[in-house]
Parts: sequence; structure tokens; C-alpha cells
Amino acid sequence: MTPSTTQASPFLYLRRALTGSVVTADDAGFDEARQAWHLGADQRPAAVAFPETAEDVVQVVRFARATGLRIAPQGTGHNAPPLGDLSRTILLKTSRMRGVEIDPTRRRARAEAGVLWAEVVEPAAAYGLSALHGSSPDVGVVGYSLGGGIGWQVRLHGLAANSVTAAELVTAEGQLVRVDAGTEPELFWALRGGGGNFGIVTALEFDLFPLESAYAGWLIWPWEQAETVLGAWSEWVETVPDEMTSVGRILQLPPLPFIPEPIRGRSIVVVEAAYAGTAAGGAAHLEALRALKPEIDTVAAVPATGLSRLHQDPEDPSFALVEHLLLSSLPKDGVDAFLSVAGPGSGSQILSAEIRHLGGAAGVPAPGGGALSHVDASFLTAAIALPMSPEMTVTLGHQLEAYSAALAPYGSGRSYLNFTEEKTDTESFFTAEAYHRLRTLRAKVDPAGLFQANHEIPVAVDAAAGASQLALSA
Ligand SMILES: Cc1cc2nc3c(=O)[nH]c(=O)nc-3n(C[C@H](O)[C@H](O)[C@H](O)COP(=O)(O)OP(=O)(O)OC[C@H]3O[C@@H](n4cnc5c(N)ncnc54)[C@H](O)[C@@H]3O)c2cc1C
Repeated sequence: MTPSTTQASPFLYLRRALTGSVVTADDAGFDEARQAWHLGADQRPAAVAFPETAEDVVQVVRFARATGLRIAPQGTGHNAPPLGDLSRTILLKTSRMRGVEIDPTRRRARAEAGVLWAEVVEPAAAYGLSALHGSSPDVGVVGYSLGGGIGWQVRLHGLAANSVTAAELVTAEGQLVRVDAGTEPELFWALRGGGGNFGIVTALEFDLFPLESAYAGWLIWPWEQAETVLGAWSEWVETVPDEMTSVGRILQLPPLPFIPEPIRGRSIVVVEAAYAGTAAGGAAHLEALRALKPEIDTVAAVPATGLSRLHQDPEDPSFALVEHLLLSSLPKDGVDAFLSVAGPGSGSQILSAEIRHLGGAAGVPAPGGGALSHVDASFLTAAIALPMSPEMTVTLGHQLEAYSAALAPYGSGRSYLNFTEEKTDTESFFTAEAYHRLRTLRAKVDPAGLFQANHEIPVAVDAAAGASQLALSA
């Protein structure tokens, strides 16, 4: 039987071909199936496929090609909003592909496409190893790594994309291939930073790093001290080694029961710090900040697993408005600009306004790295707002615009794919050379635009792109 022989619903064919399942609008479970982690995405795909094996993914690709549909691979849906119209698209959810293998001898992990970071962090720690995960334990390994990956060891080991050593993926031709530095090197280059535009990853292999414990936690002051604290922090970061990664942050916390009592309903200024080394070494570096007498000090030796919840990101599906900027520098007037839109007296209702310190290995091109091997910026700032009503959405939208405008003078001129939660010109993520290379490769490996990534790299249309000149319909 081939797809063309089906009558009532072509998806009957796909359903029979898969070990996993296929859910369409005619099925009772469609609303649950189409839901993304990001509650701001109202995904209405032609169907949702839940493959359980790489062979299932091959079947979905072959079916989509035969029926003229596109495919949007999705792990968790943390970055679903930019996907746009899915009415002619199969949403391929990898959430049932959860195998994890740790090879302690080679210090390497293999994670299937639907694996969340927490599911790697725990078994790796059993061997004294850590992965380059980010601030949230339930973000997907694949989506995060394909977009770059900025985590608590980014200054020491660089972007997570650089730790990827191989990918197993299904191409637009429906072939399951394994790519690494020696096999399909151009595809391997593109995957590491270029997002989900080049195939459906069924598993990633990546390096792990020795880390038994870290010296990490929060230093907290009332937000009235924000100017002093963030001023000192912005100077302090210039003095720390690459083992120290930190975040300067303002939080306006609602009076909700799950927030610990001492900070519930309060506005605070925080320095989050993670030192990949001994407690004594970390404490010595933190002396300058402790001299400012934080009201609360949770920084202590923690197991490496403790880093995955250090930032206290939400783990339940959520809806937030997010604005981010990469900053070239953070001089004193940059801190003032930050405070003028997020600090005391600003009138801001932004829940969390943070500045992540980059630099170190994060800022250096990685030898043999991919499309995004480093971030040419010293800081990444992100503002997160939680609208509770349509009116608030408008108000908070204005506040986020003001936030961006105030910090724009310090901007690097680029944006970061993983932190971009709306449709944007993907050119802003890459150097001109890398972008051209990505577009040219897309024209070669996916000329018809089978794959619908959240951040789409358009097919190159110049003569150099060769035979494939089809524009994407996204
Ligand atoms: C609470 C929160 C905390 C975060 N913290 C950090 C952080 O500390 N550092 C950081 O760098 N980022 C962070 N992010 C951003 C995060 O890395 C991106 O949202 C990332 O895209 C999430 O990947 P995912 O697979 O979970 O999401 P998804 O929305 O499922 O995937 C995003 C995109 O990745 C691609 N993709 C996913 N799976 C596959 C696959 N199998 N094959 C091919 N393409 C695929 C697709 O194009 C997909 O649209 C955070 C986001 C949130 C919401």
C-alpha cells in the first residue's frame, strides 16, 4: 500500500506505517497532542506524529513527501511560537524518543531526539560528569544544542553546539544518516547552530565534562540596592576566571505560595553565580560581592546536578513574553539604562530582567565549530513578563519595547536563535558568511522546504546555489 491508495484520510496509511502514533483533528486527543510547552503557541497542524523510532521518522518524511505536506520537528515546544501556520504541516513530536546512553570512558552521551536535559544530567553525574545544559532542566537537548546552547559552563567550555560530536538524522530524501566531522561535514557544520532546518535529528552524541560539584547559588538584596549591586557586579565580572559564570538579575516576584517566604511578593536584585571549582576557590572570588552584605546568601558547594535548577526556571508549560539582546559591553551607563526600564522607580512590571555574563570560551571561535560556534558579545540580557490579561499583554509589550530601546545602544547587532521567541529575520543570528553558507546548503539538501523550523533559513536563490532555486512557502 502506498499513500496514494488511501481514501478517507491519508493519515490512515501513516498510522499503519508507524510503531508510534498519529493524531488528527478527527481524534479526541488532538488538543492535547498539538499542545506545545509554550502556551503562547496555538498549533493547528494537519496532523501530529509521535514516532518511537528513527525508522518511524523515515516513514513520516516519506509520507510527507508523497502527500505534499511539510514537517515541523518538535521536542518540547519551548520555542514553538515562531513556527507560524502549520495547516499543511505534520507536527513531528519526538517526546517518545527518550533513550539516553552515557559512555563514561569516552566522556560522551547519546541522547535520542525527545530527551530533556534533566534526563542527561542525572545519569552523567553518576560518573562525575556534566553536560553543557542551560538554565532549565526540561528544555530539549536537541532543540537547545542545534540553536547554540548557553549554560552555566559557557565561559569555561563554550556553547553546547561545540560539544556535539555526531548527529543521527533523517534527511529530506528520507534517508537515515549519521553525520560527524568526517561524514557529511557541511551538514554537521550547519546543524551546530543552524537549528532544525536541515533534517530531523533522531539522536545526538556530545561530549561530557568532569564536574563533581560546583560552588553555586544566589546572593540576594532588596531591589533598592540594585544600582550599587549591579554596578559592582558589572565591574566584578571583568575580574573573574572562566570557571565563574554569573547572572545579574532583577526579580519582581508575585505573592504566590510556591515562592519561598523570604522573597515572596518582593522585588529583589540577585547575583546568581556558578563556579566550576572548589568551594574555597569560589568563595575567594565572591568576597567582593559578599562585602555588599547580601540579605540572603545561598551560595554553597552543590552537586553538579544542582546547576540545572539554579536559575529556578518554570518547569510547567507557561506563557511569557520575552525580549532579549546581546550586549557588546555593559558600562556604568548601560547598568543605568537597565535600571531605568527594570529597576526601582521605573514603573516596570517585568517579572525577571536578567543579564548573563558571557565572554571566556563563549566568545572565542571554536576550532572545527559549526554555524554558531561562539557569541560575539559580552553579555546576554533577557526580560520576561507574564501577562495575566489581554490588557496586560499590551502594557507589558510596551514595557518590553522600552527595555529593548534602552539597551539597544549597547547591543552587538546580532540576536540569539534560542532566545528568539517570535518570527524574525534569521540573518540576525549569523555572520554574513555563515548565513550565505547555510542558505546554500539548504538549497542543496532541502530545496522544497520540507522542514519547517521555528527559525527558518530560506533557500538561497542566487545562481551560486546551483540547480535548486525553489523559494520556501513559509
Ligand atoms: C524556560 C526556558 C529556559 C531556557 N533556558 C535556556 C538557556 O539557559 N540557554 C539557552 O541557550 N537556551 C535556553 N532556552 C531556549 C531554548 O534553548 C530554546 O527554546 C530551544 O529551542 C528549546 O529546544 P526544545 O527542543 O526544548 O524546543 P522545541 O520548541 O521543541 O524546538 C525548537 C526548535 O528546534 C528544532 N528541533 C527540535 N527538535 C528537533 C529535531 N529532533 N530535529 C531537528 N530539529 C529539531 C526545531 O526547529 C524546533 O522548532 C530556554 C527556554 C525556556 C522557555
